[in-house]
Amino acid sequence: MTFKAEYIWIDGTEPTAKLRSKTKIIAGSPAGLDALPIWGFDGSSTNQAEGHASDCVLKPVFTCPDPIRGGDDILVLCEVLDTDMTPHSSNARAALAEVAEKFAGQEPIFGIEQEYTFFDGARPLGFPEGGFPAPQGGYYCGVGADEIFGREVVEAHLDNCLKAGLGLSGINAEVMPGQWEFQVGPLAPLEVSDQLWVARWLLYRTAEDFGVSATLDPKPVKGDWNGAGAHTNFSTKAMREGYDAIVTACEALGEGSKPLDHVKNYGAGIDDRLTGLHETAPWDKFSYGVSDRGASVRIPWQVEKDGKGYIEDRRPNANVDPYVVTRLLVDTCCSALEK
Ligand code: ADP
Ligand code: MN
Ligand code: MN
Ligand code: MN
Ligand code: MN
Repeated sequence: MTFKAEYIWIDGTEPTAKLRSKTKIIAGSPAGLDALPIWGFDGSSTNQAEGHASDCVLKPVFTCPDPIRGGDDILVLCEVLDTDMTPHSSNARAALAEVAEKFAGQEPIFGIEQEYTFFDGARPLGFPEGGFPAPQGGYYCGVGADEIFGREVVEAHLDNCLKAGLGLSGINAEVMPGQWEFQVGPLAPLEVSDQLWVARWLLYRTAEDFGVSATLDPKPVKGDWNGAGAHTNFSTKAMREGYDAIVTACEALGEGSKPLDHVKNYGAGIDDRLTGLHETAPWDKFSYGVSDRGASVRIPWQVEKDGKGYIEDRRPNANVDPYVVTRLLVDTCCSALEK
């Protein structure tokens, strides 16, 4: 007996990494993460090595059932190592693992809202050939064939994620036609990040069968059309128990060089999206506020009312690396909360 294991990894494409995958046939039946072999690939084809020393190592870090192939088949998310078994320079997971371990006692958790846009060839799904649809207004959480484009793909993707056991918490149609969102979490930093990467892979893979492509481009259409973000909702145990910790976390994010340290690592093209329009705050001005969708960081109204809960960092682009945004938020906020 054999099963198929789809080994998935994050490549070295600049400025935004892409997902790659290939299939390994393994004897027996799946017996958990630790039983999965390490594997390798040609790093010279993925921007991760030079041709003369091209071998990179794939080390399994997360596995789940493969909802597309079904049966015993599995998906295997990997981190990339050099042949000396140290993290490859493209491997952002290793640094998160260290920070997550350091602050595990504060029990940080995340819910990430992944926005994305379907494309039919060169134009967003739902955009008429050679023109533009009616202006934004009716599409967000809309219903009906004049407002909704790609729902069959979205439903298939959601079912695939749930079959794989990923912790999705919802989906919705977004402000621009062809634009959608799914949310992963709340989960611990490594879990939410691994699962978001697998959910992204499943998005591309599911849409492939419908002849549609999906992109995390943060500003897929220039002009008066919403960009695509990855609002990152965050809390620690102290934040879930009291409002002082909520304020401490928001203040920490505004201190000194922190706003810029974060924003410059929140996805390529961030200044095209964080313009101050379309429910964003300008990328170079930090602000936080209750219910404020024009602030960098929003405190949901319910959180102020309850005096506890979580904060929403609205700045990350759709193309952000979740290993990076969760590391920065844990590092900045948990360091401040530790004092
Ligand atoms: P929005 O109103 O901004 O569209 P969503 O409902 O799309 O918000 O996403 C909110 C996300 O926040 C969800 O993924 C949810 O699971 C997550 N979340 C809820 N409570 C917490 C918490 N205490 N800590 C972190 N994330 C949380
Ligand atoms: Mn070959
Ligand atoms: Mn949302
Ligand atoms: Mn949204
Ligand atoms: Mn949001």
